[in-house]
Amino acid sequence: MKTYAENDLILKRLRTLAYNLWWTWNPRAQALFEELSPLTWDSTNHNPVAVLAQCSEVELRACLGGVLFRNRTLAVLDDFEHYMHARKTPFGHLAESHPGKAAPGLVAYFCAEYGLHESLPFYSGGLGVLAGDHVKSASDLGVPFVGIGLFYRQGYFQQRIDTHGQQQESYPTTDPATVPVELVRDPSGKPILSSVTIGTTVVQFQGWKLNVGRSTLYLLDTDVPENVEHFRGLTALAYGGDMSTRIRQEIVLGIGGVRFLRSLGIAPTVFHMNEGHAAFLTLELLREELTAGSSKPDAENHVRAQCIFTTHTPVPAGHDRFPNDLVEYTLKPFAETAHLTMNDLMSYGNVANSPSNHEFTMTILGLKLSRAANGVSKIHGEISRFMWKDLYPDLSLAKVPIGHLTNGVHIPSWANRVTWEFWERHNSHKWKEHLNDPDFWHHIADPSVVTDEELWYLRYVLRRQLIEFVRRRAERQHAFGGVSGEEALHHLLSFDTLTIGFARRFAPYKRAPLIFSDVARAQRLFNDPARPVQILFAGKAHPRDAEGKEFLRQIHDVTREHQFFGRVIVLENYDINVARHLVSGCDVWLNTPRRPLEASGTSGQKVAINGGLNLSILDGWWAEAYNGKNGWAIGGSEDNLSQEEIDKRDAVSLYDVLENDLIPAFYDRDKNGVPKKWIARIRNTMRTIVPVYNTHRMVSEYATKYYFPGEKELGSKRRS
Ligand SMILES: *Cc1c(COP(=O)(O)O)cnc(C)c1O
Repeated sequence: MKTYAENDLILKRLRTLAYNLWWTWNPRAQALFEELSPLTWDSTNHNPVAVLAQCSEVELRACLGGVLFRNRTLAVLDDFEHYMHARKTPFGHLAESHPGKAAPGLVAYFCAEYGLHESLPFYSGGLGVLAGDHVKSASDLGVPFVGIGLFYRQGYFQQRIDTHGQQQESYPTTDPATVPVELVRDPSGKPILSSVTIGTTVVQFQGWKLNVGRSTLYLLDTDVPENVEHFRGLTALAYGGDMSTRIRQEIVLGIGGVRFLRSLGIAPTVFHMNEGHAAFLTLELLREELTAGSSKPDAENHVRAQCIFTTHTPVPAGHDRFPNDLVEYTLKPFAETAHLTMNDLMSYGNVANSPSNHEFTMTILGLKLSRAANGVSKIHGEISRFMWKDLYPDLSLAKVPIGHLTNGVHIPSWANRVTWEFWERHNSHKWKEHLNDPDFWHHIADPSVVTDEELWYLRYVLRRQLIEFVRRRAERQHAFGGVSGEEALHHLLSFDTLTIGFARRFAPYKRAPLIFSDVARAQRLFNDPARPVQILFAGKAHPRDAEGKEFLRQIHDVTREHQFFGRVIVLENYDINVARHLVSGCDVWLNTPRRPLEASGTSGQKVAINGGLNLSILDGWWAEAYNGKNGWAIGGSEDNLSQEEIDKRDAVSLYDVLENDLIPAFYDRDKNGVPKKWIARIRNTMRTIVPVYNTHRMVSEYATKYYFPGEKELGSKRRS
């Protein structure tokens, strides 16, 4: 008999686990919570805190009486605690202080959104998912790391698609008590409040703490009774408001973020601004220096020495710019306390003598007050140097100090549960420690380790899982061309058919409808009886993006045409959960951006660990990763054509690759039914994409190039 006290301890450890997002990249931990209440798990979009709240203590104790459940629980808890206390991590030594000496490193990472899990609505899309993956890899690698963001109670919108293909938006409110966050309190139990002055109003905010493995994230929230009603809602919506909401949110994020860290006694050595939204943090660091008596040049140098800036946007319109009078109105009192004239402050956000000096640009602020800056792919680095060259009139284009560091994904989070167990079986648990080791993956991808038949088996399991997920969704979604639940169950998609995925924001430059631009040709391709094709779409259009919504409607119309019925599907409410299903179940991941507008893109990187292949325009990360054998490239390189000509050329190229190369490779089977050429491409993807296009490689690069230059030797030596 296990004692009552033993079970007490296990329950306590289980609660601690629920409040650490480590479980988001450990499927065995997820399975425990799912088993406790499958219904709650499903209805809360996989939230373990809600599951534990559903189960009485009596029930939990009874479950621990089941030997198998108990043993699996203990195994997961031991793994978790082992992870939390691991000493030999690649960058863990940076957190160690020595007698009389503070620890040499702590990174404070600022971002307007974080995509950590489908149950936490603090993100809108790619930027947030990238930030979430960054935090997770920083934890895995032991980089001393704290993140700052905003606590969006209503997040980004939930999407429904009505029977006319129109997007409907709703904003359900998250009750903080039901998700794995804790309010930051002082020792007496009172919430810790900080404040910023916006215009003439002092706005207070509190912070919610999220444990992400060994990393900590603080999300700031103005919804406190001390604020007037108007400011309580300031942090409710992600990118929801007008220009003046936006600048106020960014003041809370940047200036407020630094103050909040100070109020907790946290002293970062590096401030990383992930996109311009966070760039006001430089002004707060400047204020600290100036009010302590530094001269302006000294203060600026000191701020620069601490700051790193990453830009993500290759089009001028995508960068936050605020009219000067709005900046003046909201920041004048701040400037006064910082001993800055309004002219001084403005000069950080624009280029001297430029015609756009009526605006304050957050990217310029970030660039002017950082010691290093980067774009997020090789092409995007070039574009960024070109876009911001006016800031550096004395330098040639090649010398503009914006480098590049290509984005990645946190592989354990994007491996399907089945995939995760598959790699555990095939290499005795080591794969998670060797994520950025090409030699390791070269070995793993060898037929002597994993046979063709095994890989093909994995693809079949994952494709079925996806299709069954879609069919279940179809019962709740009314935009499946009027299909009833019963019909959906039997006729949507086929388990043996080549399955293409296209999911991302419905931004016009991503050209979702390109594959239907020649309907007759698409029709022939999709309906070839011997070699059929099916495609799944998902994605939200920004609430104010009429053209994006129109693209969504066009695809919806296609799903209703009888020649595409059951073969072309739009899944509503794209989120991290839908994404994880799609990137694991699809055989091919399609991306058709207009060059060079895809700064990096990351969704295609998520398919690699699951045995998916990429079919994409050579833009962003794919322009670097494609080697002729690890997927397919479409489009051409001469870009001095009209937009229409380019669209036409790219569509023809897409059809040609599908028809002549990709579809035949999928359906060309050996006598055991295995597509040898297809599997060869999967192996090539394993070798060349998995170990490179991930956030372990990315964060290691940030650490050695930007956060802690000089760490290079040490970091890589420890890793090998
Ligand atoms: C990965 C991901 C993105 C980013 O996808 P891109 O192809 O890079 O645009 C956006 N949204 C969600 C939910 C994701 O998981």
